[in-house]
Amino acid sequence: MFRSELAWREFYADVLWHRPETARENVDRKFDAMPTDSGAEADRRFEAWRDGRTGYPIVDAGMRQLLAEGWMHNRVRMIVASFFTKDLHLPWWRGARHFMRHLVDGDLASNQHNWQWVAGSGTDAAPYFRIFNPTAQGERFDPPGDYLRRYLPELRGVPGKAAHRPWKLPDGPPAGYPPPIVDHATERADSLARYDQVNPPPTDPSRRSRVYPVIGVSGGSVSSSQLPASGR
Ligand SMILES: Cc1cc2nc3c(=O)[nH]c(=O)nc-3n(C[C@H](O)[C@H](O)[C@H](O)COP(=O)(O)OP(=O)(O)OC[C@H]3O[C@@H](n4cnc5c(N)ncnc54)[C@H](O)[C@@H]3O)c2cc1C
Repeated sequence: MFRSELAWREFYADVLWHRPETARENVDRKFDAMPTDSGAEADRRFEAWRDGRTGYPIVDAGMRQLLAEGWMHNRVRMIVASFFTKDLHLPWWRGARHFMRHLVDGDLASNQHNWQWVAGSGTDAAPYFRIFNPTAQGERFDPPGDYLRRYLPELRGVPGKAAHRPWKLPDGPPAGYPPPIVDHATERADSLARYDQVNPPPTDPSRRSRVYPVIGVSGGSVSSSQLPASGR
């Protein structure tokens, strides 16, 4: 396993060597046509993500760990990057730039290409429709909610797994903790509609209907247990 992780690092270094422009540009140029958001509302969402105030606890815990320690586990990096690109519709390079400012292991090749892997625009990219459900990912990888309480003081009084869904508490989220800034189901549908713009459905009517698998939700057609445990 360790050797295969090192292979990813070497692979991304090689990609950057041969295609230095991919530090800033999509590896798959088809994604240049993917609409991303900008403007005041996009900036407000970016700041909420950056400060760990999205209302999605696993995202917020990760982003606050990044600010406090300059590090996050690979799983959390994937979750916050998926949220950034697929729930907030922000361009991957903007999130990657924030990571590079704060990660103690920040590395241009690994960082930019892992971001592109998550965004779907990279060399070996995850299929674009692989959209993590942040709540289900949190419940799967931090079942007791201890990681959340460690980095989110507002949730320290919320016991057990209830910390993953503070908006469901009888009195709503605890004082000082925001409600979710976006609705995941709505933004997931928006992302898939944007994807259809750069990847039009086949012209053959019999192949037109698309079913996109749901990631990280038990009962979905693909679950995160099918994702390799580390790295990918
Ligand atoms: C959005 C995102 C951004 C990332 N940014 C960086 C970055 O700036 N710098 C960085 O080194 N890694 C980055 N990674 C990859 C990975 O998260 C870290 O290398 C890993 O968390 C390091 O933890 P570890 O030393 O316990 O890794 P281990 O799992 O023990 O792996 C051993 C070594 O292999 C390499 N490695 C492991 N996974 C990857 C991977 N997916 N891609 C490339 N190399 C890998 C690292 O050098 C790591 O130290 C990023 C991942 C994502 C999803």
